[in-house]
Amino acid sequence: MISVAIDGPSGAGKSTLAKRLAKELGYIYVDTGAMYRSIGLFGLREKADLQDAAAMQQLLPRIHLELASIDGAQHIYLNGEDVSETIRQEQVGMAASAVAAHPCVREFLLGLQRGMAEKQNVLMDGRDIGTVILPKATVKIFLTASPEARAQRRMKELVEKGQPADYEKVLEDIRQRDYQDTHRKTAPLRQAEDAVLADTSELDFEESFALLKKIIAEKAG
Ligand code: C5P
Repeated sequence: MISVAIDGPSGAGKSTLAKRLAKELGYIYVDTGAMYRSIGLFGLREKADLQDAAAMQQLLPRIHLELASIDGAQHIYLNGEDVSETIRQEQVGMAASAVAAHPCVREFLLGLQRGMAEKQNVLMDGRDIGTVILPKATVKIFLTASPEARAQRRMKELVEKGQPADYEKVLEDIRQRDYQDTHRKTAPLRQAEDAVLADTSELDFEESFALLKKIIAEKAG
């Protein structure tokens, strides 16, 4: 099986690039962030203390996640409900980052994620795919961009969705999420030693896509 691991901070363009790359390569795209977001959403709905590991652990047996690809788009189901759109809210992203710090939550998703890579060729994106989930991945890429470049892209997305936002607030959220993700004890966001670094601060989508395609072709081609 071929596995491509793409890790990096939020807003670096991982999912948009990963989706298109997976389609072109004919691999299954696995968005692991969507799994953490779904758990975060469940915690928010239950009004649980997301910082409390024991409270989150109690919720886990009531969470059932399923992924499906419909017309090339990945959908995620939380206890049977399609939450693919709902989990994109900023607030759910922050909740995901909080619950992702708990070892019990990471353990809960580890088997599911590894299992997916055993059955098919996958392109999996997240924070710890190259370091923890798939340490033997065929290709490992660490995709990043400056916080300012990521905030600008996020602003553009929000404006396109008709949800204008404040640049300083978006930048602050990105910085806070970077801090949380890189400073947690369990599986912090970091570049695997054998990962190729791709910095897209100065690249547009097509240039970033071409760069990743080249990296993958060199390692898996
Ligand atoms: O990638 P996305 O922004 O959807 O991820 C949401 C949050 O889930 C991240 O900020 C991170 O805290 C967490 N996450 C993680 N490990 C992954 C994927 C996401 O900790 N493999």
